[in-house]
Amino acid sequence: MKKISIIVPSYNEEEALPKLYERLTNTLSNISNYEFEILFVNDGSKDSTLNIIKDFRKHDNRISYVNFSRNFGKEIAIMAGLDYAIGDAVILIDADLQDPPEIIPELIKYWEEGYDDVYAKRKSRKGETFFKKFTSKLYYKILQKLTRVEIQKDTGDFRLLDRRCVNALRKMRETQRCSKSMFSWIGYNKKEVLYDRDPRIAGKTKWNYKKLVDLAIDGITAFTTSPLRISTYISLPTFFVCIVYFIYVIIKAVKLHMAIQAFQAIILLNLFFFGIIILLIGIIGEYLGRIFNETKNRPLYFVDEYNGEKEKNI
Ligand code: UDP
Ligand code: MG
Repeated sequence: MKKISIIVPSYNEEEALPKLYERLTNTLSNISNYEFEILFVNDGSKDSTLNIIKDFRKHDNRISYVNFSRNFGKEIAIMAGLDYAIGDAVILIDADLQDPPEIIPELIKYWEEGYDDVYAKRKSRKGETFFKKFTSKLYYKILQKLTRVEIQKDTGDFRLLDRRCVNALRKMRETQRCSKSMFSWIGYNKKEVLYDRDPRIAGKTKWNYKKLVDLAIDGITAFTTSPLRISTYISLPTFFVCIVYFIYVIIKAVKLHMAIQAFQAIILLNLFFFGIIILLIGIIGEYLGRIFNETKNRPLYFVDEYNGEKEKNI
């Protein structure tokens, strides 16, 4: 029988967990032909989250947990979930019931049809401010402009991943993680499932705008090194202005038989050296970007299918 691991990153979720457990197990009881593991990653909660998980475990041996030594953040909690999950597929789900467990059968259905990454796409987002929705929309537009990798809009981490995806993600051990971009980066057959995103059932969101800005910056820097190119882009127009101004000053001097004035020389020199300095920063940026990409130590590719003789050894 195939096994599916449900990964629940949890940070101070004592109020939400009992409700999650109820709805999750209700859903699972209607799904036959699969074994389930419910893997909680307790991300250094300061409330009784861990005890609640241990209580679940007492009467339900599908439950397992990883308890972090401190709070490492959701991204790392997800990674630990992927490391410890034993299923043939995993489902990532938030503890606060913003991701309705009821669509799990649909996720599994598409997995059976051969999709590797069945992601849940939000049709609506209740309980979120206009500003949050607006900024998030704008952000993904910018992110998509910056990269060639296709980014799934209006999706979070709520998804089913086949073992192949899990193994791929586990090879990406960078510390500054942005799992959303990684799901896109690894590729494989993707399928979207639509759902309505509910407001958080209990407790408070762990996000605030500072964290969101951090996440946005992490997202962009994890996806692309193009911000490093900004200085190259600035230096070129600077040189252009410098040259135009240079020609203007010379022509004026020749035509009107006037000596070049001090302020003109200063402006010219400024433009010239400013341009050179920015250009040099740009060059450093280019190398820095390459070092950045190398240090991530990502696999170069993932293979979907191969029909030859060579034994798979990675
Ligand atoms: N979470 C976590 N570690 C953290 C912050 C959040 O494991 O440092 C978990 C949290 O318990 C929840 C999920 O990540 O299961 C999503 O968090 P939250 O609901 O606060 O984020 P939002 O839905 O507002 O984006
Ligand atoms: Mg939430």
